[in-house]
Amino acid sequence: MNQPQTPDQTRPSVHAGVNRFLDEVRESGILNYRSESLPTWCPGCGYYGITQGITQALSELDIPPHELVFVSGIGCAGRYPFFMKGYGFHTVHGRTLPIASGVKMANPRLKVIAVGGDGDGLAIGGGHLPHAIRRNVDLTYIIFDNGIYGLTKGQASPTTPQGQITATTPYGNPEQPLNPVMLGLSYGASFLATGYAGLPHELMHVFKAAFSHRGFSLVIITTPCVTFDSVNITYDRFRHLWHPVPPSHPISDIRSAMMLAMSGEHYYGVMFAEDRPTWDDRWESIKQNARRK
Ligand code: SF4
Ligand code: MG
Repeated sequence: MNQPQTPDQTRPSVHAGVNRFLDEVRESGILNYRSESLPTWCPGCGYYGITQGITQALSELDIPPHELVFVSGIGCAGRYPFFMKGYGFHTVHGRTLPIASGVKMANPRLKVIAVGGDGDGLAIGGGHLPHAIRRNVDLTYIIFDNGIYGLTKGQASPTTPQGQITATTPYGNPEQPLNPVMLGLSYGASFLATGYAGLPHELMHVFKAAFSHRGFSLVIITTPCVTFDSVNITYDRFRHLWHPVPPSHPISDIRSAMMLAMSGEHYYGVMFAEDRPTWDDRWESIKQNARRK
């Protein structure tokens, strides 16, 4: 019969396990993309899984930190540039995309990654999304969609489901939520992918595809806010709901992508991708035409 172990007996094996895990993390290279500031997000926040996916993708693509710029607005995701190695710009509420576009236009050699929540990106900043998309500036925009305002303590956001009780809707949210995937597709994004914070390895593949796309890549991540949402996007509820985008899905077919977006199912992966001239390509050709005149 096994004898119960005292805390002193268990400690060496626990320490060995933790040390082994830390060695694996160091060897993976993902710490090369993390600053020395530790994240201030709540324990269990989905943003940790998203960060795991982003850093793994950057490491696999071997993008040097000095070529990276993280741009954010306001919200829990707004703190992102502080926690990452590279250049960073924590901008004002909802203005992530104009700033990120300007950074890329000013220095096309930089890899620009814009991040923000559903409130920052789809409410106050929602008017910027169609214009960044139609310009097809070569950057990646990641929406951390937790269906709630987290930083300001749990108000209903543009993606909060109808009927949900929140700090601002104590008798249930009367409004219909936005479908950000349909928004991105109907605005004409040249790349759109989805993912779930609870599947960081799968997210890594999604981010690798997004960072490799030439043009505006929109990535919409569903992520639990463990502090202010215990009913909608929870790890328990979403654990078994996710499926990969079917291998038979033609990713250059916008109608098929829209069918997936409207299906009510939860898919992760690349839904739509198309090669098309970027803003920079068109700007170069305008400059050449102007010089000839
Ligand atoms: Fe994450 Fe919600 Fe905490 Fe913000 S409030 S850090 S979104 S769990
Ligand atoms: Mg939010």
